[in-house]
Amino acid sequence: MMPETLPITDLTAAITASRKISEDVSVITFECPEIASVARPGNFVNIKVNDTTQPLLRRPFSIHNVRGNSIDIMARNVGCGTAILAGSPCFSTMQVLGPLGNSFDILNPSFDTALLVSGGIGTAPMLFLEKQLALQGSGCINFVGGRTSRDLLLQNLSNCRTATDDGSAGFRGTVVELLEHDIEALGKKSRLKIFACGPNPMLRAVAAFSRKYGIACEVSLESIMGCGIGICYGCSVEVRAPGGGIETVLLCREGPVLDAGRLVL
Ligand SMILES: Cc1cc2nc3c(=O)[nH]c(=O)nc-3n(C[C@H](O)[C@H](O)[C@H](O)COP(=O)(O)OP(=O)(O)OC[C@H]3O[C@@H](n4cnc5c(N)ncnc54)[C@H](O)[C@@H]3O)c2cc1C
Repeated sequence: MMPETLPITDLTAAITASRKISEDVSVITFECPEIASVARPGNFVNIKVNDTTQPLLRRPFSIHNVRGNSIDIMARNVGCGTAILAGSPCFSTMQVLGPLGNSFDILNPSFDTALLVSGGIGTAPMLFLEKQLALQGSGCINFVGGRTSRDLLLQNLSNCRTATDDGSAGFRGTVVELLEHDIEALGKKSRLKIFACGPNPMLRAVAAFSRKYGIACEVSLESIMGCGIGICYGCSVEVRAPGGGIETVLLCREGPVLDAGRLVL
């Protein structure tokens, strides 16, 4: 993961497009040139969805895509903040703070093929990551998992392998079982690196898989988060310290991307 020294901006940004891509997931476009021009894959934004105290705090979202002066976020409607986001019409404005957090380390790659492993709404950062990998000429395969075919968020991703728990699309099983299934063929082809985002049990399984096969792996974690800039301590998580033992880090500052070896399994 790349430590960030990017300029952070707090903008009043207009929604320029919003579309539902599944029953409960929307892709929302914000015009924010200052963020779009410097964002890296893995960064997130923290959004104040209205100017009332309901909800009081901003809500964090991965940067799903960058196009010109705009960024897209992909948001699952799970509560009051995301319901407001999904229901806000074009030309309404929100306070968007970003880019925040660190980013996936794709520079000077020691790999030729990136495995982008995601589950559920964890697929959100993968489009931006895939585009940056393509720009630098790295190969990439998406491994996308979901409970059923309706939970697969494949829009605009290329080169996708899919897994569903119920077998309604792609491989029947988890996305990590699909990786196990494919690893022999993959490993013969090239040097691999895994970039993963999804629910914590999936990330723990990906971390164990990467250790088993000696594959470099970065994971993007989620936690409850408040300020997004290291003041409120709302996003502290326990991880392995580089020198051994356990330490507490703030995910908004040291993450959300961590080396998989730091996950407490
Ligand atoms: C770095 C980061 C990046 C994220 N990226 C995305 C993204 O790209 N797309 C997306 O849809 N969501 C993303 N999330 C999760 C998203 O921030 C929460 O779903 C959102 O804040 C919920 O707000 P709400 O007001 O709708 O829900 P609330 O009404 O506050 O809560 C509804 C439910 O969601 C749970 N919840 C609240 N906040 C979080 C959270 N941070 N993580 C997990 N569960 C939560 C609550 O425990 C509760 O069960 C990200 C979270 C982090 C920390």
